[in-house]
Amino acid sequence: MNDLLQATAQRAIRYLSSVDTRGVAPTPEAIARLAALGGPLPEEPADAAEVLALLDDIGSPATMASTGGRYFGFVIGGALPATLAASWLASTWDQNGGMTVASPIASALEVAAQGWLLDVLGLPASAGVGFVTGATMANFSALAAARHALLERAGWNVEAQGLFGAPPITVVVGDEVHVSLLKGLNLLGLGRERVVRVPVDRQGRMRPDALPPLSSSTLLCIQAGNVNTGACDPVEELCAIAHAAGAWVHVDGAFGLWLAAASTRAHLVRGIANADSWATDAHKWLNVPYDSGLVICRQPGHLRAAMSVNAAYLEQQDQRGEPFDYTPEMSRRARGTEIWAALRTLGRAGLAAMIERNCQHAARFAAGLRTAGYQVLNDVTSNQVLVAFGDADTTRRVIAAVQADGTCWCGGTVWQGHTAMRISVSSWATTEEDVDQSLAAIRRCAATIC
Ligand SMILES: *Cc1c(COP(=O)(O)O)cnc(C)c1O
Repeated sequence: MNDLLQATAQRAIRYLSSVDTRGVAPTPEAIARLAALGGPLPEEPADAAEVLALLDDIGSPATMASTGGRYFGFVIGGALPATLAASWLASTWDQNGGMTVASPIASALEVAAQGWLLDVLGLPASAGVGFVTGATMANFSALAAARHALLERAGWNVEAQGLFGAPPITVVVGDEVHVSLLKGLNLLGLGRERVVRVPVDRQGRMRPDALPPLSSSTLLCIQAGNVNTGACDPVEELCAIAHAAGAWVHVDGAFGLWLAAASTRAHLVRGIANADSWATDAHKWLNVPYDSGLVICRQPGHLRAAMSVNAAYLEQQDQRGEPFDYTPEMSRRARGTEIWAALRTLGRAGLAAMIERNCQHAARFAAGLRTAGYQVLNDVTSNQVLVAFGDADTTRRVIAAVQADGTCWCGGTVWQGHTAMRISVSSWATTEEDVDQSLAAIRRCAATIC
């Protein structure tokens, strides 16, 4: 065991030191070599050190170097050093994080992290938090809590009786709703297509003036952080309108919720604490390793009612209950460990600085691209930049060239009918030098095509 872990640590260290010098995307040759990991199941046991060597030798070159400073695809984020190390230790512990009796440490880390999270995000200290796999499950879990609360109000116990014959819930979403939220609705029997879609503005923000009539049976789903533009719905105004009508407000803040942690950006999500539930990712902007997301519910009892395995929680409403009372999973890894390590090392100031730095780097990208004569399609208010290099075909060719060049990695998207390259700055590891090096590479690639 000792030798195996020492060797693996050495391999991990070697991998991390290669990330800054290799191309960000794996080469086609590295991907082709992945065939060596398959084949028929071996009949006989193999030496663990040899298996780990195979995994590293074949696997590491085929990774996307998204843990480095020049990966800007989707909205991904890296892993802060302390969170990677904490994750090693948590894997070593191999704790079942579902129950306090199975792991006092996992539970204690979640309790500590929960308090810090609510504090730093400016959310009610009494809210309930579930440590889930990502924002998709966080959205699902929050929507389940909302479904519970809205139907309970209508005299219906959805956990016991199901949805057949239940009073209807009207689900209202912005036209720029994230697909994961729609997936949550379909998993919950609320239907991805029976939603009312609200028109959005040029940045993708829900228009309060275009809201349909809301009522106490409405679930209004709003968004903080559009995956393309980074824009946030006008949370304060939407919450005020919704609550006057008795509606539930859920916020998909997969990455945008973290803007609340930076005083320089918090105005973008003003009023966010007024919502009823929130979904966010830790593996994106908090920069912890996969997989890690958070469901937060103003009234813990609603989340608990939706997630508990039985109705016994009703008799223990005064107690916090078990970690698994707040998540879809029962057994799971000690997911709070890395979140605890991130917040414990960053502190309030470090977290704010990381968020602000990423936003400033996005602005630097936008300025550099505009200066070079390319069209930035969005108002760069947070960490996302959309750039077009001409028509759709030209832009797609530039994206392909940038990805093949390897200095950085950016993906493509379509924003309100325009094909664009999307730059998401969400990693702690990105430096100003990374931005300048990447800008130079993008300009070089674009110059050969445009
Ligand atoms: C990334 C994202 C999600 C989904 O999160 P996962 O971590 O992939 O499950 C949901 N909503 C928004 C706005 C996102 O950016």
